[in-house]
Amino acid sequence: LLQINNLSVEFSSMLQTVKALNHVSFSIGPGEILGIVGESGSGKSVTALTILGLLEKNARIKSGEILYKGKNILQISKKEQQELRGKEIAMIFQEPMTSLHPTMRIGDQLAEVIHRHRSISYKEAYRQAVLSLDEVKINDPELVARKYPFELSGGMRQRVVIALAMSAPPDLLIADEPTTALDVTIQHEILKLMKELAEKRGTSIMLITHDLGVVTQVCQRVVVMYAGKVVETGKTEEVLHQPVHPYTRALIGALP
Ligand code: ATP
Ligand code: MG
Repeated sequence: LLQINNLSVEFSSMLQTVKALNHVSFSIGPGEILGIVGESGSGKSVTALTILGLLEKNARIKSGEILYKGKNILQISKKEQQELRGKEIAMIFQEPMTSLHPTMRIGDQLAEVIHRHRSISYKEAYRQAVLSLDEVKINDPELVARKYPFELSGGMRQRVVIALAMSAPPDLLIADEPTTALDVTIQHEILKLMKELAEKRGTSIMLITHDLGVVTQVCQRVVVMYAGKVVETGKTEEVLHQPVHPYTRALIGALP
């Protein structure tokens, strides 16, 4: 579904140039859940933003291609990139409010997206919005649909964001530390939920985390990044049992 070849990205300021990605290559198959792990600053988020076409102006793509369904999405127009983000590629960030409208009721936010993507009435879209809240295991979805984001807990908000992300529904979901801000029990439930939905819809997931425990819980394959490079890639079990890179060994050593 997605194949990244030889991707290099630099950030430049007046003072210096930072190599954020250094010849990064990996792929995600249809329906696959791929984990991307690496310490802070290793290039995980930059990889995600490059795929989404959301890099800031001081970034330069120095080399490489990103093939999505065989087409290099680094070369399509901003408008086409935006369409792709709206429909086929969805994203979830650490902070749920990044994806939510602060002054719009939950039900309307969901209904609007559903209405935009399917040729159904707004009323029907709203009905489906309530169903989608039920699907992400929110109790009393009709009541929650009438609430504003600030009235919900962090875990609830992230469930809403997942419902929002899955409503198109996407072929690829890019989740950047989606559970980092949540407590461990809720983290576990959210991951399980993402996995279930992905299996049901056939959505591929790129799950970014600095927590190898999260990867072992849901990912079939894993990519380990270190200082802007991919230092390891393989089936989660294999990487866990036979790590090649010292950083991966250190990560595994830190597992409970
Ligand atoms: P974290 O786990 O903290 O989220 P990360 O793996 O997501 O880390 P990135 O955000 O991808 O790390 O950053 C990779 C490198 O690129 C870092 O050295 C960072 O300082 C640099 N970088 C990222 N965004 C910018 C930017 N907008 N301007 C300048 N440098 C940037
Ligand atoms: Mg990051």
